[in-house]
Amino acid sequence: MNIIITGASKGIGYAIAETFAAHGHDLYLTSKTSKDLDASVAALREKYPLVKIEALAADLSLKSDVDTFSKWCLQNTKPDILVNNAGYFVPGKIQNESDGQLELQLNTNLMSAYHLTRALLPSMLSNKAGHIFNICSIASLNAYENGGSYSISKFALLGFSKNLRLELKDKGIKVTAVCPGAVYTNSWAGSGVDPKRIMEANDIAKMIYAATQLSPQAVVEDIVMRPLLGDL
Ligand code: NAP
Repeated sequence: MNIIITGASKGIGYAIAETFAAHGHDLYLTSKTSKDLDASVAALREKYPLVKIEALAADLSLKSDVDTFSKWCLQNTKPDILVNNAGYFVPGKIQNESDGQLELQLNTNLMSAYHLTRALLPSMLSNKAGHIFNICSIASLNAYENGGSYSISKFALLGFSKNLRLELKDKGIKVTAVCPGAVYTNSWAGSGVDPKRIMEANDIAKMIYAATQLSPQAVVEDIVMRPLLGDL
């Protein structure tokens, strides 16, 4: 299968890429910083030499870059699975976070997934098959301290995911919303939080891979995962 993953250079996205590569699937990856993306692709190619791994850096908060990336994908492959994972977290309060924060968070965490999905959907629709994963968050489900615009963007991404699921249920295309609690990635490095207190990126990747292993007539609509001891 051909797997498209955004935000694949590190963290959860890298773990998802590695899991699919380990199972022999071809990868089409993107993230913002080309140097980091190149290093991740080199590491994956070395470990999985038989798998096709292609990449193009793009700032997915910009629609023009989403357009370039989606065109490149369609020129190179027929997407079977799309993982909308690229995102970033800025803590803040609605009352005093910096002006423009909402737009920044929406452009990266929501609009990237919206535009990329719309661009790749015609190919999946013509195949009458496909699976789209949207990496939402526990912040899509509940308000929390310092959620601010991040939480607003993740609620919106879950709304996008649920509407997409409804639209595509009779088209052979599965949609899964993934809502993880805290996962130890760059976002947590330097926070002082014990990595053993929260989840590993691989935990999320394993659940996503498992959701792709069902019969064509079954779909996992939501994956909600938390650290065993609960949210921080
Ligand atoms: P991470 O380690 O910081 O990785 C984020 C990835 O997204 C990087 O590859 C990054 O590329 C890419 N990215 C960010 N902004 C981008 C942009 N404008 N255009 C293209 N790529 C961009 O983060 P993570 O913790 O793995 O998070 C991955 C996803 O999981 C995010 O959507 C996040 O909200 C969600 N999530 C994380 C947690 C958690 O606790 N870690 C919990 C729930 C949900 P660059 O580094 O080049 O910018």
